[in-house]
Amino acid sequence: MLGIGLALYSETVGPGDSRYPWGGGIIPEMRKHYFLDNYCIIAAERRKRPSDFVVAKPASDDTSTCPFCPGHEDRTPPAVAVYKGGEIVSDDEADRIEDWDIRVMPNLFAAAVQSPTPPTGQWIALPGFGYHEVMVDSRDHFATAADFSRDHMELLLKVYRDRYIHYRYTTGVNCVSLFKNSGPESGATLKHSHSQVVALPIIPPIMKQEISAIEDASFCLYCNVADREMASERLITRNDSWILISPFYSQSPYEMWILPRTHLSNLEDLSQEQMKDLAALLRDALRRMKVLLDDPPFNYMFYQLPYGYHINIRVQPAVTKIAGLEKSTGVYIVPVSPEEAASELRQA
Ligand SMILES: [Zn+2]
Ligand SMILES: [Zn+2]
Repeated sequence: MLGIGLALYSETVGPGDSRYPWGGGIIPEMRKHYFLDNYCIIAAERRKRPSDFVVAKPASDDTSTCPFCPGHEDRTPPAVAVYKGGEIVSDDEADRIEDWDIRVMPNLFAAAVQSPTPPTGQWIALPGFGYHEVMVDSRDHFATAADFSRDHMELLLKVYRDRYIHYRYTTGVNCVSLFKNSGPESGATLKHSHSQVVALPIIPPIMKQEISAIEDASFCLYCNVADREMASERLITRNDSWILISPFYSQSPYEMWILPRTHLSNLEDLSQEQMKDLAALLRDALRRMKVLLDDPPFNYMFYQLPYGYHINIRVQPAVTKIAGLEKSTGVYIVPVSPEEAASELRQA
């Protein structure tokens, strides 16, 4: 019986309260993660339409104040890598390259920086160590990743791969987080399209949980998920190397996962063909989401480790709020079932 707790409040939380879309009664359906001890609530009986998730767009930014727009290269630190016509060139403090396709630079407001003196005391404190870079991944101030051409998406994945490999072999780095925030509700502070890479000295608990579940099973749980979801109603589309699914356990409505059909741990393991296929499927996923939800704010995240893991990419439209329940329990309310989401995304 999963409705304990919330069901007790049915007298005070009535139907129509949007925080409790099931009307304060019994939780309609709770789902467990494929193999972790994580749960989400599927609250789909009060059916929502894609238009219910459309978020008002902020006014267009003024490009004259945007530090990422072409011609404003001197407003950021010099790039650590500039991609131009398929080549990597280095930037120069005095003479910044202006005709770039993608610029990679240290984040001015780094979330992880190097500091020689860790705090000491009774509690465990890690030394401040890590790297945070931002990639300006389009010259167009108004483009989102869903608008990228196939060639440009292939270039972006090449940049991701290069930065991943760079940090994978950097001493002291144990996890490379690669992600994109797009739109203000996603956490992005600038409108101009960008991606980020954060290299951390720790393996985050969620990754540890996954590795330990995979080790306990003595086979790759993600390979198993990919095999089973290939023929399920949650499959959105697939190509020769990858599948796109609405995961059985979701954290947001219209969440999508991209999984390789064969076992690959990280971007470094990908062949040219697999890179091309991933670019095609990521682009396809973003296009479907843009069409169905009218260009929503979103995040996508690459989950990967050097060994013993199965790379996966998760795309989450940022259309619901992470509030008290999610923060206190890690249990997410998902107001559209993944099966319905897949059906709509297939047709988008
Ligand atoms: Zn701009
Ligand atoms: Zn696998």
